[in-house]
Amino acid sequence: MRMTTKRVLVTGGAGFVGSHLCERLLGQGHEVLCVDNFFTGARANVAHLLGHPRFELMRHDVTFPLYVEVDEIYNLACPASPVHYQADPVQTTKTSVVGAINMLRLAKRVKAKILQASTSEVYGDPDVHPQPESYWGRVNPIGFRSCYDEGKRCAETLFFDYRRQHGMPVKVVRIFNTYGPRMHPNDGRVVSNLIVQALRGEPITLYGEGTQTRSFCYVDDLVEGLIRMMETGPAVTGPVNLGNPGEFTIRELADLVRELTGSTSEIVHRPLPPDDPRQRRPDIAQAEELLGWAPTIPLREGLARTIDYFRTVLSHKPVGA
Ligand code: NAD
Ligand code: UDP
Ligand code: UDP
Repeated sequence: MRMTTKRVLVTGGAGFVGSHLCERLLGQGHEVLCVDNFFTGARANVAHLLGHPRFELMRHDVTFPLYVEVDEIYNLACPASPVHYQADPVQTTKTSVVGAINMLRLAKRVKAKILQASTSEVYGDPDVHPQPESYWGRVNPIGFRSCYDEGKRCAETLFFDYRRQHGMPVKVVRIFNTYGPRMHPNDGRVVSNLIVQALRGEPITLYGEGTQTRSFCYVDDLVEGLIRMMETGPAVTGPVNLGNPGEFTIRELADLVRELTGSTSEIVHRPLPPDDPRQRRPDIAQAEELLGWAPTIPLREGLARTIDYFRTVLSHKPVGA
């Protein structure tokens, strides 16, 4: 436990990553203010924290001003799965851009450290592989994914302009595909989709040939990286990639999910969504050097834990309830 208790704001704190972060921060002895509009997150994700004396949950949309007194801000509010962020694309851009402005102004007023949860999507469909932070990306500005990709890119711009204009202690991390317990069963992301399909004996859907690659980071590893980044001094701004450099084709992921669930679900192919990146793997040299961070949980182990979670969820309520 730490010597000093900080007041920490986590926006998007009732989401998948945010709920794990809140839990970890409470465990470190901090006061946690969780702000969420419940667009993709849920009270259920933080239900186990609600009675905690240092935890507070506030329903609020970050596109509106927020006046609170805090020492640190983790800005995670934003739907992260393609299905959800494309459901209301204008709101997605607004959440990233207006949300960033509101949180930066809040940070400026109260002199808080502020960390932005950016994304590997800023690299788009990359022609540099693996992706280092110095790569500027290959993003379609007018496609279906642009509300998310360009919104997050603009948020990064705002963070660095607030630093240049106001000398603020900003931090930007670029998060690569992360998975684990409390992913929404219906959010359409590949790990949750494949596990739910395998457990229910439904066909496992591979978009395209399944030859596209992703690198999957277990949520506990990611949360450790977020906290280490926040702990750095003002000279460390990032952007810093946080992700697991192990790279798998979606076909390999499907085979592993089938093996670990013991499922006999057939594999079916569906059309590849537009602008779907063909490959993605983080170069994590910066995170290793600046944060002494690298993932510790292999895909096989993380998937086994995630499958256990979904087994419990699916046995308690119908998916989507
Ligand atoms: P999530 O959808 O589970 O969590 C996002 C949370 O933000 C939800 O609780 C949602 O209700 C909340 N939210 C959305 N719009 C809001 C608004 N306008 N005001 C207040 N709250 C709002 O997604 P996640 O996977 O936990 O992602 C968390 C953050 O990490 C996001 O910013 C996402 O872009 C980033 N990220 C995640 C991944 C990943 O693989 N999980 C990868 C890259 C980046
Ligand atoms: N703001 C906020 N919380 C704060 C401070 C500011 O949400 O704690 C938002 C709010 O929308 C406000 C706007 O930022 O109207 C401008 O605030 P301020 O004039 O203090 O900041 P500046 O424009 O100088 O950055
Ligand atoms: N995908 C898939 N089957 C699914 C869901 C996703 O083959 O049921 C593919 C998707 O086309 C993409 C990869 O898995 O190539 C990762 O998709 P996800 O939506 O999880 O994340 P992102 O594309 O944002 O990395």
